[in-house]
Formats: sequence, C-alpha cells, structure tokens
Amino acid sequence: MNLKRAGTAPTLSVCGEDAVMQKPKKAVKTILACDVGGTRIKLGLVRGMRLLVRKELDVRAGEGSAAAITRVARAARELCREAGVSTGHLAGFGLAFPGIIEPGSERILSTPAGKFDDAREINVPALLQRLLGLQTLVCNDANAALAGEWRFGAARGYRSAVMMTLGTGIGTSAIIDGAPLRGQHGQAGCLGGHMAVNLQGQVCACGNLGCAETEASTWALPPQAQAQPAFSGSSLAREKRLDYAAVFRAAARGDKLAGELRDRAVLVWAGTLVTLIHAYDPEVAVVGGGIMRSGKVILPQLRRFVARHAWTPWGKVKITRTALGNDAGMLGVAWMVNERL
Ligand SMILES: [Zn+2]
Repeated sequence: MNLKRAGTAPTLSVCGEDAVMQKPKKAVKTILACDVGGTRIKLGLVRGMRLLVRKELDVRAGEGSAAAITRVARAARELCREAGVSTGHLAGFGLAFPGIIEPGSERILSTPAGKFDDAREINVPALLQRLLGLQTLVCNDANAALAGEWRFGAARGYRSAVMMTLGTGIGTSAIIDGAPLRGQHGQAGCLGGHMAVNLQGQVCACGNLGCAETEASTWALPPQAQAQPAFSGSSLAREKRLDYAAVFRAAARGDKLAGELRDRAVLVWAGTLVTLIHAYDPEVAVVGGGIMRSGKVILPQLRRFVARHAWTPWGKVKITRTALGNDAGMLGVAWMVNERL
C-alpha cells in the first residue's frame, strides 16, 4: 500500500508550527474556536488554517458549566476586541470538549470525572449561541484534534488515520476511508483510552476495569506512584507537580521507581496504539498531547512495539507525532464549522 502523502502544498507558519496549507474550496471565514483541556481552556480566532490570535484560561475545579461558558464567552469577546474583529463578522463558534457528544443535537452526554458535571443538564450549544450570537458546533476534543491533523497536519493526505492524545487523560479518534468515525451515539473511536489493558486493574471512572487511562495517564499517576512502597525514597516524592514530565526527568537521572513508572506507561500507550491499529486499520497513527514533550523517548519505543506486535500484513503503519501541537483541536473544530457553513 502506498503510504506517500498525496500531493504537496505551500507551507506557512502557525503559532510557531509549520503546517501545510490546503487550497480552500469555499470562502474562508473567521471562526472562533475553543478547546477545553484537562487544566487549560484554549481560545483562538481561526481563519482557514491560521490561528490569528489565542488566549488561555484556567479550568476551575468545581466551577459549574454555565459559569465556565459565561467566562469563555466573555474571554471570546475580549479576544475579538484585541484582534480588532467584530463578533458580528465571525462565521461561527466551534467548541472541542473532552466528553461524548450526541450526534445531531451536539449535547454533552458525558464529562471528565469531577469537571463540568452539570454540562449534561445544559444545552451547551444553545447557551453559547445565545451568549455570543454565533452558530455553534460542539465536538469531542480528540475528534477535533485528529480533524486538524488530517486536514492541515501530520495525517494530511491519508484516507485512514488514528490519533492518540496523551494529556490529562487519553483521547483517541479514528478516520476510516476518508470519513471521521462517530458511531450511533457519538462514541465510536473516541474511547480508546477506556479499552481494558489490565483486567486485574482498578475500576475506572467510566466503569470499565483496567482502562489505559487508569493504568497510565496524568490524572491516574499521583495515586499510582504514591501507592508504591519505594515512593518515599524516590525523588518523585519531592516533586511539586507529579506528572509524566517529572517521571521522565527522574527516570533519566536514574531514579528506579520513575524508570519503572515510565516503562510501564510506555507499554500501556504502545498496547493501546496496537489496539487502535487492529480496530481501525489506519495508514498513519498520530501521537499528541502534553506528555509528548518527552516524544524523543516515547516515539521510538512505540514504533518498536507496534513493529513487533501489530498485525498489519499489508505493511507498516506510519507512527508520527502531532504537527500542529496544542493547536490541533482549535484548527480541527474551526475546520468542522467551516465545512458546515
Ligand atoms: Zn475507563
């Protein structure tokens, strides 16, 4: 199978990232895009595939969804003012959210544990539409990130792709034969972080046993590390913020527990990647998320594991890191809004 990218296009710089510009089929409009992450809410004005300006807000634990949405709407108006763009000239608003989104209504059916719990009771697209006067599209954040990479980034030119985002949780998404996978209830492809990798593991917030997320994700790491008898003697016990960046740093210094946690996590992510490859038959697998700041260590190991364990008699899946970085979700959801117009 030919794994070459189809065609070439001029490149331009987007917030420090090189990306490929696609010739637009229709008039390019300015779109307000928002990507809700585990700790930060990113907001940007997107025109075509260019992020014109951006702003970030904190995710406030315990803040209700209505209050968070009102804060986002206020920040969006400020962003437009700073950029000299009237909200009346915007073509729409795209919200990438870490939950299951009902196809059609775009209501939020599930939320990350302990955050925005009341989002299920609110008609989020309708509320945003009322606050900003903009047609609003809501989609899953991992689906938005893969859409961005597929149209403008690392998966551009491929017909079938998967993405695994290693952030606070593990987000996944799939595009098969040129069609983004959604399923009857909006949950196909995006629950790769909740596929069991350890049936002797902990019960996850999703209800399943030993999910990839409960075995190796940023939210699961602190209790997992602290439960180890070696924790008090490890340099990890002195870290202000116990995340995978700290684990990779300590492991490189020779900290034994950190090395074990690192190796275990890479194994979980590699196993998850093989499952995504077996389930969705991609030509390319894109790996993104904050944890990929340690991509130099992670990527070669993922490639080795996949080469050894994935069943792909046709050839090799290309395994690559995100080209759009943190902006993939905003660019992807803005592209979706533009497609809908
Ligand atoms: Zn789960």
